[in-house]
Amino acid sequence: MIRLVDVCKSFGDKEVLHHINLTIEDGETLAIIGGSGSGKSTLLRLLIGLIRPTSGEIWIGDTEISRLSEAELDKVRLHMGMVFQYSALFDSMTVGDNVAFGLREHTDMPEKEVQRIVEEKLNLVGLENVAHRMPNELSGGMKKRVSLARAIAFEPEIVFYDEPSSGLDPIMTEKIDELISHTQQALNVTSVVVTHDMASACRIADRIAMVYEGELIAVDTVENFKNIRDERVQAFFHTLR
Ligand code: ATP
Ligand code: MG
Repeated sequence: MIRLVDVCKSFGDKEVLHHINLTIEDGETLAIIGGSGSGKSTLLRLLIGLIRPTSGEIWIGDTEISRLSEAELDKVRLHMGMVFQYSALFDSMTVGDNVAFGLREHTDMPEKEVQRIVEEKLNLVGLENVAHRMPNELSGGMKKRVSLARAIAFEPEIVFYDEPSSGLDPIMTEKIDELISHTQQALNVTSVVVTHDMASACRIADRIAMVYEGELIAVDTVENFKNIRDERVQAFFHTLR
C-alpha cells in the first residue's frame, strides 16, 4: 500500500502541491489526471523518491520513504519500475542492453539468466527480435514498449508511468493502454499512471485521482467519477466527446 499523509511540496516559495492525502491499494491501477502544470509529475516524482516533500509523510508499505537516505532509497527503488514521459533509453546501447541494464548493475545474476529475462520481458510487451537493435532505429511506440520492458525487468511491485502515451497516435495509445493493463495482470503489480487523457484513464484505471492546481480534488472509481458534479471534473469528461 502507498500512502500520502498531508503532503505539501514547494519549489522556492511557491507551493505546487497542497495537503495531499491519498491511499493506493496493492494491485490496483490508479490514474492521476489533471491539466498541464497541475502537479501530476511532481506527485509521481515524490512517490518515486526523486524529490522530497516539504511537509507530510509518504509511506510505501511500512517504510516512510520521505525520511530515507539516498542509499536506502536506491534499495526501495529496486522494487519500483518507472516509465518516464520521454522514454529515456540509453541511445548508445542496444535494446537488449537497455532492458538488461538494471539487472547487470544491481545483481550478479549469470549472463544467461539476464538474457532469458530480457527476452521474456520483450516478449511480454510484444517485441520480438529487436534486442540487437539500437533505440534510434525504433518508432516512438516501440521505444515506449522497450521502456516498459526495462521497467519490469526486476519484477517490480509498483510501476509508475508518466504520460506513457504522450506523442503517440490514438491507435498506439490504445495499444500502450492494453499493455499497461496486461502488465498489471501478468505481474500483479500496483500501477500508478499519470495522464491528461481521460479516455486512457477510463480504459485502464480502477480509480482516478484528479489534481487541480496542486490540490487533489477527487478520487473515486471510474464509474463514480463520471457522476461527480464538480465542474472541474466534468470539464475533463467533456474532452471525451
Ligand atoms: P504537465 O501535464 O504539463 O506535464 P504536470 O501536471 O506534470 O504538468 P508538474 O510538472 O508537476 O505539472 O508541475 C507543477 C508545477 O510545479 C508547475 O507550476 C511547474 O512549473 C512547477 N515545478 C515543477 N518542477 C519544478 C522544479 N523543479 N522547480 C520549480 N518549479 C517546478
Ligand atoms: Mg507532467
